[in-house]
This record gives sequence, C-alpha cells and structure tokens, in this order.
Amino acid sequence: MRDLENVWSENLQKGILQIPTCQHCRSWNWYPLPACRSCQSTDFFWNEVELIGTLFSWTRVHRRFTNFDIAVPYVVGLVEMAEAPTVRIPARLQAGSGAQPIIGDDVTLTAACDEGGWHWVFNLRQK
Ligand SMILES: [Zn+2]
Repeated sequence: MRDLENVWSENLQKGILQIPTCQHCRSWNWYPLPACRSCQSTDFFWNEVELIGTLFSWTRVHRRFTNFDIAVPYVVGLVEMAEAPTVRIPARLQAGSGAQPIIGDDVTLTAACDEGGWHWVFNLRQK
C-alpha cells in the first residue's frame, strides 16, 4: 500500500476520500492496520467513496486544545460513510452554518484548510 500519510494528505487537499480496502475479502479497513481486520490479508488498495453519509455522533467544543487560532465553540462529529458503513470520518461542522445537528442527519463532506491545516468539514443535507 502506498505511504498512508502521504496518500491521505494528498487526497484530502484534492477533496478525495479513499479508504484502504482489502484485496482479498473487500472489507473496508479504517483506520488502517497492518493486516485486514476480517481475513488478516496484508494486500490493500485505496478505494474512493462518495462524500455523503450520516452523522454518527457529534459534540460541541468550547475550548481550544491546540495553539491554532480556531474559533470556539465549534462542532465536531463522526460521519458514517454511505458507501462504507463501517468507516467513520471525524469532521467539523461548517463554520457559521448555525445548524443544530441531530444524530442520523444526512451530511456531505468537503475538504477545508484553515490555521489548523487541512481537515474534513460536514454540512447537513436538506431532506
Ligand atoms: Zn480481508
């Protein structure tokens, strides 16, 4: 498998989400481990997933935990990907959206960059 950190960073900056997938049993392996969780194979490929999912969980953060000048409070959540239901991606709620998230909301992911670097942002989808 190509270097994990480089692939993840390069894809994030392009707004692409790829998840390591086992070549033997096709199971998603996120977060990555040296061997497949299902069959112990060590052969993986990067599989692109659509940037839609549902909100698995979320919390509102009222303190800065880094030296980066991130406006508080902000909302972070775990997004369960529609095409890869065992994969949950951490993301921040789009700043200034004013939305009140609810677990199970349909969301989209987009890549964003700020003082803290590149990260995933989620937006609530209209139902
Ligand atoms: Zn496997």
